[in-house]
Amino acid sequence: MARIFCVANQKGGVGKTTTCVNLAAALHQAGQRTLLVDLDPQGNATMGSGVDKRALEKSVYHLLVGLAGLEQARATSPSGGFDILPANRDLAGAEVELVDLERRENRLRDALKAFDDDYDFVLIDCPPSLSMLTLNGLCAAHGVIIPMQCEYYALEGLSDLVNTIKKVHANLNRDLKIIGLLRVMFDPRMTLQQQVSAQLEGHFGDKVFRAIVPRNVRLAEAPSHGIPGVVFDKSAKGAQAYMAFADEMIERVRTL
Ligand code: ADP
Ligand code: MG
Repeated sequence: MARIFCVANQKGGVGKTTTCVNLAAALHQAGQRTLLVDLDPQGNATMGSGVDKRALEKSVYHLLVGLAGLEQARATSPSGGFDILPANRDLAGAEVELVDLERRENRLRDALKAFDDDYDFVLIDCPPSLSMLTLNGLCAAHGVIIPMQCEYYALEGLSDLVNTIKKVHANLNRDLKIIGLLRVMFDPRMTLQQQVSAQLEGHFGDKVFRAIVPRNVRLAEAPSHGIPGVVFDKSAKGAQAYMAFADEMIERVRTL
């Protein structure tokens, strides 16, 4: 049975896509059968996985509106080895089209169901909004991974997301839970980040992952080569952190 995780945070630029691509590649390296679903019309996870978003015949858009099945829409990341359900600008149109379709919040969940035995992990890269696309991600998932920067306003932004997750849990998806908070782009030299990090641990206890992803330029350089950071420079501190995070995820799913 595939374990399905949504990587979500309604803020942009907080490391969702970086987390998805690197976790997918690290899980693949650890022998886990992994599918990455790009649910952002920007297609950053697609490009960062080495799949050209401008050359897609079928994409996650076709899957959501019923014009293709997973079999036709999925590709394999040439650099990362994992499977990917790619996205590009077509997906922006799905937002409007979905409104008129049956089971509009459950389109992704329904499409993935037949492939439950193909994967150990499915990771969903959400757009920076609490939109119909994100809702499809949350309805398909067993859990949410929330990447966050340890900044002053981080906790404030978190409450909107936590409320949304609670509503989805209550009304649409009883399986959904918060798996954990992942500290990313961490700079241990900054006292404020240390303080917020300690605050998070105090508030959320073991919902905060042990792995901490540092700010690391190699992780930021990798996407322009279409290569996941953990493959691009696996000795870099950022890559090491994502590999440790993958091990932690493998350990966590055993307890779910
Ligand atoms: P999101 O998907 O939430 O918008 P991204 O993963 O695209 O965020 O990250 C935003 C920017 O920050 C990108 O340019 C990315 O390369 C960079 N970035 C992400 N994580 C790190 C990190 N740990 N260290 C350095 N740069 C990072
Ligand atoms: Mg992104």
